[in-house]
Amino acid sequence: MLDTSLELSSTKHDNPNIKKIYGQFKSEISEELEKFHVPGKQNSMRTKQLWNWTFLGGVTEFSEINNMPKELLNQLSKNYTLSRNSIAKEQKSNDGTMKWLIDLESENNSTNNQIETVFIPEEKRGTLCISSQIGCTLNCTFCHTGTQKLVRNLTAAEIVSQLLIAKDRLNDWHKNNPNNVRKITNVVMMGMGEPLYNFEAVKKALQIMTDFDGLALSKRRITLSTSGIVPYIERVGNEIGVSLAVSLHAAKDEIRDILVPINKKYPLRELINACENYPRIKNSSKITFEYVMLKDINDSLEDAKDLIKILSNIPSKINLIPFNPWPGSNYMCSDMKKIREFAKVLLDAGFSSPIRKPRGQDILAACGQLKSETIRLKIKK
Ligand code: SAH
Ligand code: SF4
Repeated sequence: MLDTSLELSSTKHDNPNIKKIYGQFKSEISEELEKFHVPGKQNSMRTKQLWNWTFLGGVTEFSEINNMPKELLNQLSKNYTLSRNSIAKEQKSNDGTMKWLIDLESENNSTNNQIETVFIPEEKRGTLCISSQIGCTLNCTFCHTGTQKLVRNLTAAEIVSQLLIAKDRLNDWHKNNPNNVRKITNVVMMGMGEPLYNFEAVKKALQIMTDFDGLALSKRRITLSTSGIVPYIERVGNEIGVSLAVSLHAAKDEIRDILVPINKKYPLRELINACENYPRIKNSSKITFEYVMLKDINDSLEDAKDLIKILSNIPSKINLIPFNPWPGSNYMCSDMKKIREFAKVLLDAGFSSPIRKPRGQDILAACGQLKSETIRLKIKK
């Protein structure tokens, strides 16, 4: 492993009453400015300026803003901040993947208040994998995050903050890229946690990220992955409108009940039905199904045929993910030959079925390897 671990520090705001500007809708900022008697047209101009500095300029201090009245910025700074959560550790894999361990504010004196965010550079795009919870309540048996108890949901600001921190570290701000060549082109809600168990904060964060006056990420370039929380699936389409990925992993309830235990609550029949009715951005867009390849568990040709059967009415892409081992895991990854045969059966049936290349394995940044272990990883300050 390339040892590029860094310890970084940044300004901390321990006062919980101080809000992050980047966790606010434009309308909320505008209301705040009204309280400072910034009227009508000026109000919307100032709101846009602030939004611009935050999301295009990437500023972290109000003092960097040079075209707004000082007095107004002073007033704002009493209740708001632009500072980020601090980075406890930064790692770079020898394949270029980057992982940040981020400190969040602790609640109820919890000792575990860290999350992980991963950047995966590829030839034509750069994907940021964002966390939605500290830990996860669902104990999928093949997932490292699932071994960590849920500590709490992230706020919208903490979700947006992950994108800003990555942009800071990658020097990916508009002002530094006049031709607007972005390093982060895609966002996937595939980090720690189940995003649909933190629906409102995830929705707000994604709405902020896609706002045209700010980061303006295209909804098509955002994918939300869920283990299958059926009642929220339609709402993802209607209220957020991003691409949907479903962690399927098995085409039979007997197997899925073990791998993804939430299946006992929302069995395959209901999950598939919700996917069949998923409101599409445009008629053609597909749902991605994630399928982790586990040796002798879900990788037979029979399993592939079952998969074809249950997905027959859904425009789908099936991502085959070679199992990424983690310390203490009980599963083994299917042989590559078996994975290729499995993919071919799906392909012959007309499904796009790419085999995902594991990235960042040397720094435990690949799918399902994320787990913030505060005690183990905490660096002496
Ligand atoms: N909780 C959400 C999103 C985060 S998990 C979900 O489950 O969809 C991101 C993806 O990685 C999911 O498809 C998950 O099933 C998969 N995954 C988890 N552990 C894995 C492992 N050890 N190897 C490969 N993929 C894994
Ligand atoms: Fe949670 Fe997703 Fe891991 Fe399951 S796979 S334990 S839902 S993070």
